[in-house]
Amino acid sequence: MKVGVLAVQGDFEAHRAMLGSLAVDSAEVRAVADLDGLDAIVLPGGESTTQLKFLQEEGLFHPLRKFALDGGAIFGTCAGAILLATEVLNPVQDSLALMDITVLRNGYGRQLSSEVRFGHCSFKPAPLEMVFIRAPIIQRVGPGLEVLAEDAGRPVLVRQGRLLAATFHPELTGDSTVYSFFLGLIGERVQA
Ligand code: GLN
Repeated sequence: MKVGVLAVQGDFEAHRAMLGSLAVDSAEVRAVADLDGLDAIVLPGGESTTQLKFLQEEGLFHPLRKFALDGGAIFGTCAGAILLATEVLNPVQDSLALMDITVLRNGYGRQLSSEVRFGHCSFKPAPLEMVFIRAPIIQRVGPGLEVLAEDAGRPVLVRQGRLLAATFHPELTGDSTVYSFFLGLIGERVQA
């Protein structure tokens, strides 16, 4: 199994370290050719506007959409979740429009400091540690999508088939539960 991590900007190294700790092979994605042979892709946090511009300029925008539409697994964290959403507000922004959610950028304000909170997650018995950094708020979740974790009554981890979006940063904690869940989604396809 090989997981590509979009390596334009943001905390892609932390994602690769988490994958490495789970003995999963990973590769940096900066060009269309880097998508060859990948089973899944991680879209890390950072600045979604910068990342979107890069995807458009490097011709990665449509190949990434195709990867997902062909059944590839994608995990978007924070800015990555913004890229996956069908609708982006505050301000309105273009996106890959793969997951039927509406996100409000910088939904908790523009503060730079991070905040760690613990919330309920459907596949973990104990509260899940969540690191929020200038996080978006998922304002609307389309029918048929699964809300897997919540913080203060708001969805923060959502699944649509093999697509997973988190408004927090699971790669910045020592807890690999969310990652293991994502790897499970990939496995379903690899075995199919
Ligand atoms: N505020 C960023 C954005 O709107 C996302 C922040 C993050 O990825 N930690 O793109």
